[in-house]
Amino acid sequence: MAVITLSGLTKVYPGGVRALDALDLEIADGEFFALLGPSGCGKTTLLRTVAGLETATAGSVRIGETDVTRLPPGRRDVGMVFQDYALFPHMSVTDNIAYPLRIKKAAKNERHAAAADVAAELGLDGLLARRPSELSGGQQQRVALARAMVARPQVFLLDEPLSNLDARLRLEARTFLKKLQRELGVTTVFVTHDQAEALAMADRIAVMEAGRIRQIGTPAEVFRRPANLFVAAFIGSTPMNLVDARVRGEQVEAAGVLLPLPEEARGLVTDGQAVVYGVRPDYLDYSPSPVDGSFSGRVAVVENLGSSSLVTLDVEGVLIHALVGEGSEPEPDEHGWAVPRAGRALLYSDGDLVNGN
Ligand code: ATP
Repeated sequence: MAVITLSGLTKVYPGGVRALDALDLEIADGEFFALLGPSGCGKTTLLRTVAGLETATAGSVRIGETDVTRLPPGRRDVGMVFQDYALFPHMSVTDNIAYPLRIKKAAKNERHAAAADVAAELGLDGLLARRPSELSGGQQQRVALARAMVARPQVFLLDEPLSNLDARLRLEARTFLKKLQRELGVTTVFVTHDQAEALAMADRIAVMEAGRIRQIGTPAEVFRRPANLFVAAFIGSTPMNLVDARVRGEQVEAAGVLLPLPEEARGLVTDGQAVVYGVRPDYLDYSPSPVDGSFSGRVAVVENLGSSSLVTLDVEGVLIHALVGEGSEPEPDEHGWAVPRAGRALLYSDGDLVNGN
């Protein structure tokens, strides 16, 4: 069982940067797990500390039953794919793929046979004699994956594995990687700063900020119920509307309008309490005629996103964004209403989701 368990994991770099701050995390056997967060939050450091390429300042890393905190990378039974692939330019594809087995001092014929097997699995059969410079970006990425797989490790660690591919290839590689991971069933941790990638691929996501984990959950959980304002603002391709608000009995006053108090917050907030009212643009329905309990304002901007439009309403000086389906887009300057869908609004108090348990 390749469960990965991090306990109190801390990494302070020589200059004093605390890249990981007493972090606890358990990744399940066979799980496809994403580390997501803004630049500098410690994602790569976390991955490299699990791989053994950085030593922990404090805390421990366990892989399965083994405490690997003090073991060198070669003895941790992990395969890693680096962001730039880190292929050896002077070696053939075969030798690149077989490299981990050479380190393990496997015989040459055994190494070549294993490399050929993995290459076949990844559709690299015809390319074995080439050098990395003679491959496309997508092929290089597969060679890097093949090298990580060849020793059949218990754990895969992938650092931004798709970021060097162009947009179209990235989509293809995303599907390929997800399918491969499912087939191999290997516990996999991948780092990305691209939330769409994390939401699309991962079984679970940890959202990090400044060396700490701010939320762990399935893609649906972090999208629908961000545990705090940091995650709420970070996740979502169109940012969540987050409006300073105040509880008024069974309602919430936000941007000068009265909205229904989110069901789940009932009994957990008091009259007059200052809160932040959150609702995604995806969960606001646009109406050209008045609706009770909605944001009401002037249409300031309509942006065409293809199959939908992002409509910005100016509600007493507060800008509220709503995603509107094809054919129902308003005209700029008309008056409109953005109606929160039942069960989709969230309340935050002191930065945390009120009904967040
Ligand atoms: P990115 O998405 O930009 O790659 P990240 O989330 O992977 O960022 P890390 O690379 O883990 O973040 O860096 C975390 C923090 O540690 C940053 O403040 C970074 O500047 C610092 N850091 C990383 N490597 C070193 C190092 N070798 N020496 C000193 N500080 C470092």
